[in-house]
Amino acid sequence: MAAHQRIAIVSVYDKTGLLDLAKGLIQNNIRILASGGTAKLIRDSGFPVEDISAITKAPEMLAGRVKTLHPAVHAGILARDLASDEKDLAEQNIDKVDYVICNLYPFKETVAKINSTIAEAVEEIDIGGVTLIRAAAKNHARVTILSDPTDYPEFLKELEAGEVTKTRRDLYALKAFEHTADYDKAIAGFFRAKYSTGKSYLPLRYGANPHQTGASAYVTEGELPFKVLGGAPGYINLLDALNSWPLVKELKAALGKPAAASFKHVSPAGAAIGLPLTAEERKVYMVDDIAGIETSGLAQAYARARGADRMSSFGDMIALSDIVDVPTASIISKEVSDGVIAPGYEPAALEILKRKKGGKYLVLQMDPDFEPKAKEPESRTVYGVTLTQRRNDVDVSPKTFSNIITPKGSGPIPRDAARDLTVATIAVKYTQSNSVCYAVRGQVVGLGAGQQSRIHCTRLAGDKADNWWLRFHPRVLGIKWKKGTKRPDKSNAIDLLVSGQLPKSGAEKESFEGMFEEVPAAFTEEEKTEWLSKLTGVCVSSDAFFPFIDNVYRAARSGVKYIAAPSGSQNDGHVFETAEKLGITFVEQNTRLFHH
Ligand code: 5GP
Repeated sequence: MAAHQRIAIVSVYDKTGLLDLAKGLIQNNIRILASGGTAKLIRDSGFPVEDISAITKAPEMLAGRVKTLHPAVHAGILARDLASDEKDLAEQNIDKVDYVICNLYPFKETVAKINSTIAEAVEEIDIGGVTLIRAAAKNHARVTILSDPTDYPEFLKELEAGEVTKTRRDLYALKAFEHTADYDKAIAGFFRAKYSTGKSYLPLRYGANPHQTGASAYVTEGELPFKVLGGAPGYINLLDALNSWPLVKELKAALGKPAAASFKHVSPAGAAIGLPLTAEERKVYMVDDIAGIETSGLAQAYARARGADRMSSFGDMIALSDIVDVPTASIISKEVSDGVIAPGYEPAALEILKRKKGGKYLVLQMDPDFEPKAKEPESRTVYGVTLTQRRNDVDVSPKTFSNIITPKGSGPIPRDAARDLTVATIAVKYTQSNSVCYAVRGQVVGLGAGQQSRIHCTRLAGDKADNWWLRFHPRVLGIKWKKGTKRPDKSNAIDLLVSGQLPKSGAEKESFEGMFEEVPAAFTEEEKTEWLSKLTGVCVSSDAFFPFIDNVYRAARSGVKYIAAPSGSQNDGHVFETAEKLGITFVEQNTRLFHH
């Protein structure tokens, strides 16, 4: 039997390097079969080449839509070195194909052109080429697939030396699969935008900054799990919404009460469950005029979430675990806020929210039953590199806090402490790391986010907790504001007062003092210390272990009685001893909760 002459099928849109390739194939006594345009270029350059029709016995059809789609081509590519495959080929008089050289119509380039039509795009959907590439890649145990012209020189070198090695064939096959996957992704992306805007796809005005164009949000299966009832979400709004929603959902599931979060720049400024508010809390959180708040757990939760750090919450993205009622919408209507995500809205509440910001207030309705696919990794591309990981789906509940390290031999922690550690820990789970959170009364009172050192988180969160507590001082509660002072200005002025940053002179001092009927006196260090000594029962959660005892000392200064953190530091022993010495119960929460 005569030796099989090796066959290459060549069908390339991008004809870069084609003639050198053809020359090399001929020199190695390889028969070239090529599609229309490819064959013409090779032939015109004086190299021997046959049309694909030599084996298909069928002409190219439908203006090029059918060129290589034929059993003579695909059986030749897909056949294995098996007797049964050889028999099938022999019966049909088909030769085995050894090499496929193919690259695809420029779909991406066409649809990237402004105003490209569906008809233009459809014509750029390569069918036969994708089939050639996939078939050859599937059978890479025997067939070499070249889908990238930059691989031709290496391929020819190997051919010259004898035959393409298995290692190369494997890598070419991988490249081919990546190529068709990327191609299909581009096609699906184009049609998603054309056919499914508002369903599975949402264009966004821009990314994190106005010059970052081409932003969008989409899912590849089903529809987006939220509907836009008002406004138009931006990229950061959605980052906030999709981090704050699971936070409140988990908080409600863990503690059985309505939950709320107030997010800024992908970290919570506050988060809380709905617990009844005292008269003082209503005043400090600026909700004493909200009708119906006594009976709305959701409104109480948002009052607490927004009340934790009113200054940071300015312009927040809000997440609410329950159907939004009028009292909750009434609080939101008074605050400067960017948007809200919730499972639904009572009609009257929706009316209130839709009037906000001249009708531009972002209102998202979340499908409460939506769950991200557990097995699908989360992925993001950073500087051209895709990173993937399993979603952080660890459950946090009061039961999480049962491993008490200090005081040794003590029984379970009180229910309120387990509740507040749950609030603090679920909050850090959705806070940019490093993070440390102080919580009490079912709410965050201080959160230190995104610091590179743990002690800076602990200090930042502790200082915020101190400021929160000082806002309950009779001097702050008794402030007499000048008529017409706006809520954000009040929050800013109170922050200056409680943080001891009062302006000393000049226009700044004048504008500060201009807000009051009677200018409140600055707090002395003694007054502060005396007032802070009344704060107790505070819980702290840390997203990773405390490397040094300074964190425990700092926490103790803000009334902390319970700390939950993972262990694992070389200093664990010292940290536990210090907690014990300061009368703090240290609970091991053994899951690290970094979040980025
Ligand atoms: P040529 O320039 O050789 O006429 O066409 C090369 C292009 O046709 C390549 O990009 C290849 O992917 C594509 N192609 C090969 N076979 C088929 C086919 O049967 N149908 C379609 N639509 N495109 C094909």
